[in-house]
Amino acid sequence: MSRPTLVLDSALDAVGNTPLVRLDRIAKHEGLKCNLLGKLEYTSAGGSVKDRIAKRMVDCAEQEGKLIPGKSVVIEPTSGNTGIGLAMACAIKGYSVIITMPNKMSLEKEAALRALGAEVVRTPTEAAWDSPESHIGVAQRLQREIPGGIILDQYRNVNNPLAHELTTAPEIIEAVVSTPSTVAHPSSGKVDVVIAGAGTGGTISGIAQGIKKTHNPSCTIVGVDPVGSVLALPAALNDTSESGSYVVEGIGYDFVPDVLSRAPGLINSWVKTSDTDAFAAVQLLIRREGVLVGGSSGSALAGTLAWLRSDEGKTVAQTPGLNVVVMLPDGIRNYIGKEWFLKMALEAEPSPLAQQIAGV
Ligand code: PMP
Repeated sequence: MSRPTLVLDSALDAVGNTPLVRLDRIAKHEGLKCNLLGKLEYTSAGGSVKDRIAKRMVDCAEQEGKLIPGKSVVIEPTSGNTGIGLAMACAIKGYSVIITMPNKMSLEKEAALRALGAEVVRTPTEAAWDSPESHIGVAQRLQREIPGGIILDQYRNVNNPLAHELTTAPEIIEAVVSTPSTVAHPSSGKVDVVIAGAGTGGTISGIAQGIKKTHNPSCTIVGVDPVGSVLALPAALNDTSESGSYVVEGIGYDFVPDVLSRAPGLINSWVKTSDTDAFAAVQLLIRREGVLVGGSSGSALAGTLAWLRSDEGKTVAQTPGLNVVVMLPDGIRNYIGKEWFLKMALEAEPSPLAQQIAGV
């Protein structure tokens, strides 16, 4: 595997280059014949898939002369992970940072942000995206009020999807193409399906572009969107009698960001997922595969399994050698104190070993 072996200039050189790992135990448990491969973005230096866009947005803004060390104040509305990536880049490069983030996002993310030197402004979760109280509205106000304030704007910045087109997609392609087909693990030699959750939509749009343009135009791209969000197509999928709130962080919105491409045929299908299924899938990933992933990774896996069971995906599920890649965007350490995780970890049925210990 091509992990860097030389001394790196800074933590920014340890962004991306994440491993693609077989999820064989889950595949077997689910009766899948295809290869199920998880891309572990929590191994990136800042702990998430969003490090890639933070690094690229900062680098490009610097090249365009938009950032001045000691003067510029980088302001960004985020569910936290883009903020952590930006705060990491800005700690290294010497820019001040203000992150605006809805209240529902974890304390762990806020603590990491503050440790990196960022200021954090919390906003009401229920504020509509275009209201002055939302994380986006507050960021815009701060930009107007604070001298040197600049919003790199992950919702509109082309460097968001481009970061994935130019790094995430090639990494997936290289790993799949370079892995030989064997009797134990037959492989089509191509990336056949990619499944990813959408927040800004940069990850899924950029990966779809990269793979379809340079590798496999018929790769199936499946988007995952939480129940209560409006990103899925056809729009009728978003009709729900349930409330618009969901606990999972980082995916789903009440508006369609510009960087989520609606180009026909680019994202082929969408799956809606519930918190319950997402958190059960997190447990499956941690327990069966030992991958310490966060909530939206559970959504991505839950969406993957639902798609592979659907009429559209069931042939893929039963075809040996097809490569199905699922994006796992961040790690469980972002959510250790969240009620859903503590319940899962601490209130599980006692294992036979626990009963044995209690009996000693
Ligand atoms: N999962 C998590 C945990 C995230 O922080 C994000 C980014 N908001 C995503 C998934 C979705 O990524 P994107 O914004 O590229 O759609």
